[in-house]
Amino acid sequence: MKFAEKSWYQRSPIAAQNLVVSFYGMAGRLVRNGEEFRRILDELEQSEWYTPEQFQTLQDEKLRALIEHSYEYVPFYREAMDERGLKPSDIETTADLAKLPYVTKEDVRTRMNDFLSTAPERGRLYPSSSSGTTGTPLELLRDQYSVSFEQASLWRHWRIAGLGLWERRATLRGHPVVPQSQTKPPYWRVNGAENQLIMSGFHLSDERARDFADAIRGFGAVALEAIPSPAYFLARAMLEQDIRLNLRCVVTGSEPLYPEHRPVIEEAFGCKVFDFYGQSERVCFGMECERHTGLHLAPEYGVVEYREPEWDHDEGVVEVVGTGLNNLKMPLIRYRTEDFISSHPDPCPCGRAMPLLPPLDTRAGGILRTPDGRNIAYSLVNYAFMGTKNFRKTQLIQDELDRIRVKIVPADEYTEEDGKHLVAKLTSYLGEDVRITLEIVDDIERSRSGKYQWIVSNLDPLR
Ligand SMILES: [Zn+2]
Repeated sequence: MKFAEKSWYQRSPIAAQNLVVSFYGMAGRLVRNGEEFRRILDELEQSEWYTPEQFQTLQDEKLRALIEHSYEYVPFYREAMDERGLKPSDIETTADLAKLPYVTKEDVRTRMNDFLSTAPERGRLYPSSSSGTTGTPLELLRDQYSVSFEQASLWRHWRIAGLGLWERRATLRGHPVVPQSQTKPPYWRVNGAENQLIMSGFHLSDERARDFADAIRGFGAVALEAIPSPAYFLARAMLEQDIRLNLRCVVTGSEPLYPEHRPVIEEAFGCKVFDFYGQSERVCFGMECERHTGLHLAPEYGVVEYREPEWDHDEGVVEVVGTGLNNLKMPLIRYRTEDFISSHPDPCPCGRAMPLLPPLDTRAGGILRTPDGRNIAYSLVNYAFMGTKNFRKTQLIQDELDRIRVKIVPADEYTEEDGKHLVAKLTSYLGEDVRITLEIVDDIERSRSGKYQWIVSNLDPLR
């Protein structure tokens, strides 16, 4: 939704903005959710009930095709395999992945072009970027199939949660569809093509909770799709004002869902929460089923391994390493997500053989607050980092409501312009009242549990 940051969009009347959102929504629905999407969704709904052996066979087949392609067309893997004297035939099953090196965010940041396939394209290409929890912005490229697969994976989860295909849903994430300067409702736009009410998490405050709840009710949404902390802030404010909704499900993702937030969200929206886990790099995908025992890892989506960190860590802490099976344009094999877990759950009683991913309690959270009463969770702050570059790591420290320091571990290519660009982007999301200063530092450490505190707030804790 890059158009939403353009001045022509922001100057348009709201009715025209709804049309623009629907137009792009329709274009998105046609390209992302066409025949290929339906076919993949059908396949995923069948494989959902595979046995462990069937999953292994499926993963091995997909992996062999990925490795052959990567050896043939992707310079990074050709080099890595040649260096080790490996041919594609040496990687027959997921157990053989251990013969290949791990890939780090730094590898992708510094050698982006070497990860791109030179093979003829499978349809359109989709650029995306991530800042990740360590604030290292990455440029990523996905092919049409990978995008369709992502949509089908999300829809499979929404259907498990109880939302039928194209039923009305409200979305509370960081889509910048509402200009930051807008201080009156509507703080949402309608994507008619997907029956979706897109609400702006950036505009949410306790005073506006009733407006948001009324919008969800008025739109006739049966489900809410949200980043956990805005969903919690809205739910908490609704309960304080004695407002309740009666939805079928709330689906959360993109940052940790804290155990104490879940019952508040469930009470305010009158339904269960179904959490999921993914990353911009799309190397693995976890989703909560109707038993809510943890996140089922989708074997069709990626292969997951666990890696012990080299730094001084608490016992049992391992890093999630993923191999995405569906993006041939930019394959990421044995990619270190920098997400950490510290426990392994028992199998789920629901009957699905997909293994469970324990809660990612080490994915750092953090909230920024603004002088006008908004709480901005780190995954919303992520949006401000999109399009910025040349940082190895960043950390945001809020000392006062109107003052934020950004620590930067610069990459070699870093210039003052990169810093100014970041300050301008943060200001556009947080408002002119917040003063942002930059500090260049050598490194930012992780805790023993693997936690990387991206946002540090020195304000009084939230209620
Ligand atoms: Zn289950």
